[in-house]
Amino acid sequence: MRIAVIGGGISGMLSWYLLQQKHDVTLFEANDYLGGHTATVDVEVDGKSYAIDTGFIVFNNWTYPVFNKFIADLAVEKLDTEMSFSVKNSQQNLEYNGNTFGSLFAQKRNIFRPSFWRMLRDIVRFNKLGKQLVAEDHPDLDLKLGEFLLKYKFGSGMRDNYLLPMGAAIWSAGLTEMPSFPVRFFLRFFNNHGLLNVTDRPQWAVIKGGSKRYVEALLARLGTDNLKLSQHILSVSRNEQGVILKFADGQQQQFDKVVFACHSDQALALLGQDATMDEQSILGAIAYQKNEVVLHTDTGLLPKRRGAWASWNYNLDAPERDRATLTYNMNILQRLDAPVTFCVTLNDTGAIDKDKILRTFHYAHPVYNMMTMAAQLHRKVINGQNHSYFCGAYWYNGFHEDGARSAVDVAEMFGVSY
Ligand SMILES: Cc1cc2nc3c(=O)[nH]c(=O)nc-3n(C[C@H](O)[C@H](O)[C@H](O)COP(=O)(O)OP(=O)(O)OC[C@H]3O[C@@H](n4cnc5c(N)ncnc54)[C@H](O)[C@@H]3O)c2cc1C
Repeated sequence: MRIAVIGGGISGMLSWYLLQQKHDVTLFEANDYLGGHTATVDVEVDGKSYAIDTGFIVFNNWTYPVFNKFIADLAVEKLDTEMSFSVKNSQQNLEYNGNTFGSLFAQKRNIFRPSFWRMLRDIVRFNKLGKQLVAEDHPDLDLKLGEFLLKYKFGSGMRDNYLLPMGAAIWSAGLTEMPSFPVRFFLRFFNNHGLLNVTDRPQWAVIKGGSKRYVEALLARLGTDNLKLSQHILSVSRNEQGVILKFADGQQQQFDKVVFACHSDQALALLGQDATMDEQSILGAIAYQKNEVVLHTDTGLLPKRRGAWASWNYNLDAPERDRATLTYNMNILQRLDAPVTFCVTLNDTGAIDKDKILRTFHYAHPVYNMMTMAAQLHRKVINGQNHSYFCGAYWYNGFHEDGARSAVDVAEMFGVSY
């Protein structure tokens, strides 16, 4: 069978890897590189080159079984890393890093602040309650996060200086969006990732030498004959025999089947008028939000006190409220020994010293609300209809494992199991 895969992120790469075992597969990618959100850039400082991840960075040993299997197949090495989270709120003269007792009190006055202790007590109560409600599959899981926090009388300190920024950081979402998050989705994710525990947590890791190492290993395995980079597909139409892909130069190519491994909104745009009612309602209900991502070396974006520097640092000082404003400390995450601190900042470009900016990128992330969750349940209604298959991180939690999982779902429909 001749299959076209549109999109070369994790979903498209794993679809390609699996489907080519039984079928004739061609992967089309609009960018001039393979990887999508797996986007590592090489930066030279003092004559030494550093491979810095700007999109996909971390995964763990609990909730990434498919991705771990994939990189093991490709014999790619991983490196354990630290996942710590800090918050800076200059209006309240507050900063902390939840990693250790010492970093929690890197700002000494936190010890004497009743509001800080109330926040910590509320976090402990939230964790305990969250676990209990998930175990009981309690009806309150159907609430929105904002309603839930009000109902259970959690304080504004815990809400504004911990839970909402943490959620916004995890899903690259806005602070304004977080209160609408479905509690079931939020708590299940926190529970599965050990975020409701103090000690029993997964071991997080990065790809040694940068995420693009696994893309390189995949290319070494599959070769490039069936990979078409810089090929922006303009539209896809279907007929009884199969599918027709239309390219920017006006050329067309016929395939038996197509796998849309791009985002839900991109897949819908490719189908245009050809989209069925089901495709329009299901894919149309899963929106994407743009993030501006800047790689730089300005440590002014991190907490003032070095002891409060974490791997993920949320900046509540930023004017932006509708999108996540955080900085990844790449030296901590990728365990880099460098004369500068490499930072990757989301949606807070105005605060960065222009002279310290290295590169700017634009990525999009799925929006999670009640509509998204309802649409995710109907994935099977459109997958496999009209010679078309849809995969992407948007079908699940929006992370790398979710893209990988969705590719396995599609591969199974073609008789390839993993
Ligand atoms: C800043 C940021 C950091 C993240 N960090 C992590 C992390 O550390 N860990 C984690 O697990 N997840 C992380 N994620 C989530 C990440 O999005 C997912 O991990 C995953 O990489 C998404 O994969 P995907 O295949 O669904 O989409 P993508 O990687 O976006 O791939 C889609 C591809 O389709 C191509 N495409 C689209 N339209 C067309 C067309 N018409 N023709 C041809 N090609 C087309 C695009 O160019 C793109 O390459 C992060 C996300 C962001 C935004």
